[in-house]
Amino acid sequence: FSLPESHNEAILSYAPGSKERARLKAELDRQFNQELDIPLIIGGKEIRTGKLQKAVCPHDHQHVLARYHEAGEAEVRMAIDAAMAAKKDWEATPWEDRAAIFHKMASLISSKYRYILNAATMLNQSKSAYQAEIDSTCETADFFRFNAKFMEDIYKHQPISDPHVWNRVHYRALEGFVLAVTPFNFTAIGANLATAPAIMGNTVVWKPASTSILSNYYLMQLFKEAGLPDGVINFIPGRGSMIGKIALEDPNFAGLHFTGSTGVFNSMWKTIGDNLSRYKSYPRLVGETGGKDYIFMHASADAEETAAAIVRAGFEYQGQKCSACSRVYIPASRWAEMKTLLLGLLAEIKMGDVRDFRNFFNAVIDEAAFDSTMKYIELAKNAKDAEILAGGKGDKSKGYFIEPTIILTTNPKFVTMEEEIFAPVVTLYVYDDAKLEETLKVLDQTSPYALTGAIFARDRYVINQLTEALANTAGNFYINDKCTGAVVGHQPFGGARASGTNDKAGSLLNLIRWTSPRTIKESF
Ligand code: GLU
Repeated sequence: FSLPESHNEAILSYAPGSKERARLKAELDRQFNQELDIPLIIGGKEIRTGKLQKAVCPHDHQHVLARYHEAGEAEVRMAIDAAMAAKKDWEATPWEDRAAIFHKMASLISSKYRYILNAATMLNQSKSAYQAEIDSTCETADFFRFNAKFMEDIYKHQPISDPHVWNRVHYRALEGFVLAVTPFNFTAIGANLATAPAIMGNTVVWKPASTSILSNYYLMQLFKEAGLPDGVINFIPGRGSMIGKIALEDPNFAGLHFTGSTGVFNSMWKTIGDNLSRYKSYPRLVGETGGKDYIFMHASADAEETAAAIVRAGFEYQGQKCSACSRVYIPASRWAEMKTLLLGLLAEIKMGDVRDFRNFFNAVIDEAAFDSTMKYIELAKNAKDAEILAGGKGDKSKGYFIEPTIILTTNPKFVTMEEEIFAPVVTLYVYDDAKLEETLKVLDQTSPYALTGAIFARDRYVINQLTEALANTAGNFYINDKCTGAVVGHQPFGGARASGTNDKAGSLLNLIRWTSPRTIKESF
């Protein structure tokens, strides 16, 4: 038999007067007005360490949504033990049953959990209703359904046999536990990083980001409600350096599923290298790290399409996507027209509280993000070769608000063309039409990252030329489309160079990393 068809979850619009809007508003009120006490969840048990931290609203940072308990060293060890204890039964569970649990998880999201996860993602991670819907509802459900399908595809990929010899590959789970270290910016990434190893029969220790605790905790409730056995995923908020050290020095460490900064991934990789002799096998290291993603406009491109893509890819979710557009190349021959279009679009952006659905734009995640972004903006204000074209102001008195900002530079290697800021700051360079090839070379060599990139052009010859010249600059490359918004099952996601191991989230290529295949030859 085969699994149910995997389909993408349809996006709801939350139009004024709609039932879904009323239901989401009610859930927002409920979550805004409670002060949840969030425990660790280890082996299915709620653990309260009493070491409490606050989960707040970035748009209203004195408003506490929850207090969560942090893991100490003992709880990290307890989580590893729980993962190891749950392992035998979980990997022996027929894959169809694991798939059924994942389909149930997706189905719960399309009904009741849609509102719970969207509200939590809006309030605690400062996403608009639309951004929450495409992330915590649609992409999360898509990961669950499609990963079930990819698991089936992998298991069915079998070698040739003949009448006297039966060859088969047993896609075993890894011999140990997997550590998932997840970011705040996508609830779906937290969900996928913790569950992709699990669907392949592994058990997981999950360290969520401290700034997305609310939605991540509700995911744990969803897993339980769908029938995921206790101990398969163990939830331990806490200090990353301490959790990493204990987990990576453990002899049962078998894999790392990571999304976050290049610096942290590099240092974990080094620690793993130093501990290799402790492990039974070479661990699987799967990481998606930074980005300095671009939109490159050619003179033949449609200006309105390009401008809309820059604004959406640069400023949706305040630019806090690894895939967000943060450097733009515009030909001098089109600059006057593009400038008018961009300024016009920026003037329409409304910024504020996530509970007002007219706001396209909300707060950045926390004070550290606010301060580091404002430093880059100050740097541009004071530079000889850059100026602020739009935005540039920030106010953290109530929430961490930074205006959508465009920096215009005459230096294609200006620091904000090179370094990831992870905030609503786009740097724009106007290139000489006669220097196309030179500009493409500079683009390739400016930043160490290679996650996403988009080109806008109508001329077919040029599309091919750009696609070829920029071959190594992005793991997700878009032609006449914005560089964000990869859809599970449609555009497998991940980058190379300093952007990660490129094991394509939302694809069979990712899931296969969580297996350690054994080939069996049986002669008759
Ligand atoms: N998959 C998301 C996109 O295509 C980005 C994920 C990320 O920020 O890491 O926009």
